[in-house]
Amino acid sequence: MITRVEPSGVILKDICEIQTEKCVAEYSSAAITAVWYSPGRKQVNVCRSCFDEMVRRGEWEVKGARLSPRPENMSLMTLYSELENIFRQQILDSYPSDWNEDFITRKIFFEYRKLFRNIQIDGLSSLPIKINSAAYKFTGNPERQFGDIGFIVKIIYPGSHPFEGVTSLEAKIRHKTTRKFAEIKGKQLNIISSNVKYPMLLMYDYQPIEKFHDYSFFPSTTKRNHAVVVPVDIVESIIREIDPYYPEKDKNHKISIDGKSIYKFTVPLAYQILFRYFRGLDLDFNQNLIRSMKGYENEEFPLSYNLREAPLPQYLLLVNVNYGDSETNMEFDINTGIFREITSSEEQEFDF
Ligand SMILES: [Zn+2]
Repeated sequence: MITRVEPSGVILKDICEIQTEKCVAEYSSAAITAVWYSPGRKQVNVCRSCFDEMVRRGEWEVKGARLSPRPENMSLMTLYSELENIFRQQILDSYPSDWNEDFITRKIFFEYRKLFRNIQIDGLSSLPIKINSAAYKFTGNPERQFGDIGFIVKIIYPGSHPFEGVTSLEAKIRHKTTRKFAEIKGKQLNIISSNVKYPMLLMYDYQPIEKFHDYSFFPSTTKRNHAVVVPVDIVESIIREIDPYYPEKDKNHKISIDGKSIYKFTVPLAYQILFRYFRGLDLDFNQNLIRSMKGYENEEFPLSYNLREAPLPQYLLLVNVNYGDSETNMEFDINTGIFREITSSEEQEFDF
């Protein structure tokens, strides 16, 4: 008879109660987890080896293993607030001792991934929307021709082919003591905007940014913004006023821009993600570019032979936006030989 089991996810040190011939916790305490089994939802402690062995023998069937987990339901405004909370929390936590854009971006992705793994939202359109996403880190040496962050969105409507777009974000922190963004590299932005459409400069500020348009129709929980985006084209226009010859400069040449002159063109990052990217706006639909961003070789955008030096973004965010009741596909197509998934459970993972 097949027993249906459900791992609790709780890890303990104890003796294994199953004790197959593969057991690794037979005589002394080792890492075990508690699983529940039917009928009566009884508990049994089992080591990893025995768990695998029971499943392999077909004596145990893991509850829900082959089905994608049910998405968590959330209203659009709750989601918006949650996103803003993540950005605010991670940015404020990083100031002043860890005030570095790479550090902040990684922490945001880590939290984002927890929130967005699999959710359903109401209120963005007349159809329910299922969203699942995964975040990856490039394991090679990023060259920054596409900015720090690649953002790939696949939008699926019932009865039509999915369409997939990409764009990129280049992150910068506000100067630790002044109002300036002192590390903006004009030439680098120029390279990014020649490679992908609608790239954005992502700006992190340890003080709330209040200069942009009126979002008073949004709930108050979303009003203290610390992460905003502005089109790279606008930033380049501002740079051109300061230095018309910026595209000829070295790619590490820095230009300092006052937050005051740029914030009026920005929108909150959470707004850009939910109301623009998730609707397919501000994305580049060049399919060869998307293949290359995912780490696959192709003729139009040849990656170097040594993929570790390929011109890829440091972080890649893949999102499926599923309109209607179609089955959620949790699979993401990406070259995992050079991209490593950022998981939300790096410690204490007992990977059943
Ligand atoms: Zn065992």
